[in-house]
Amino acid sequence: MVSLTALQRKKLTQQLEETQTEQEAANKEIPPAVAEADPEQCPHCGHDELGKWGNASGLQRWRCKDCKKTFNALTGTPLARLRKKEKWLDNADAMIAGETIERTAELCGVHPNTAFRWRHRFLDCQKRAQSQDLAGIAECDETYFYRSEKGSKNLQRRPRKRGGDKIKRGSKELVPVITLRDRSGHGADRVALDGVPPYIKDLFNQHLLEDTLLITDGKRSLCAGAKKRGKGSHVRVLGKEARGKKGEPYHTQTVNAFHSMLKGWMTRFRGVATKYLANYVGWHRHLTEGHHRNDPNLFIQLAFNPLAVNQQLKVI
Ligand SMILES: [Zn+2]
Repeated sequence: MVSLTALQRKKLTQQLEETQTEQEAANKEIPPAVAEADPEQCPHCGHDELGKWGNASGLQRWRCKDCKKTFNALTGTPLARLRKKEKWLDNADAMIAGETIERTAELCGVHPNTAFRWRHRFLDCQKRAQSQDLAGIAECDETYFYRSEKGSKNLQRRPRKRGGDKIKRGSKELVPVITLRDRSGHGADRVALDGVPPYIKDLFNQHLLEDTLLITDGKRSLCAGAKKRGKGSHVRVLGKEARGKKGEPYHTQTVNAFHSMLKGWMTRFRGVATKYLANYVGWHRHLTEGHHRNDPNLFIQLAFNPLAVNQQLKVI
């Protein structure tokens, strides 16, 4: 700076200050869940000795002391490399309200294609972050959605007529969604894209406490899965309701009511592509379980680091 005149120096300082405040303003618009995230380990190798390593695009960078690779809080998560972070809180607000793509795009001031990409990136981790340790009494049942190749350029099957023939359970035209709910409002689910039984085993193994009493109706696949859990841990209710030894109500009404809610909520999307069905099921589950506490910042955090929001969650 020695060769600059006093005036030039003043201008340069001013410019630098302005750039700095602009940078600060840009940083402020990054959702706190992202800006303040403090990774515990390297996403490349899992090592936990990290050092700060400057900034890029308004995000803190870290460098792993072991593998020497650099990263930011979103590296290796579904939110990596998504742009316009200053609009993510608006997007999260729209998603908490369960808005359609068109409405979300309008609220965020982005193209519907962007809103669509954001929706599914936000849901990718959320669908896998499910409650573990379902306790007390848990109910399990299946519900079904029409197989849909919406948005796909190569339609593999003949288009279905609206209001056409009723399709029977077990048909390949229907995709089973298996849901587990305990009576304190926690749940887990699997979208069974290729046969139900393997999903049932996972669902029971990964989300039920050992002494949780499981209730199902008479469906063979559910009962077979339940049998593997051991004696006395499963009640099969064939009628409307039964009573336990202490008069506790045994039924599957909790999970069936939940399925009706899910179906009702889904009608606004007018049919979703089967490849995204698990995203929607997970979205609805998070809205009903309310881990985000209606806070768009927490909703964003659930999309890339759900365990920081709630340790009872488990990423499957
Ligand atoms: Zn590393």
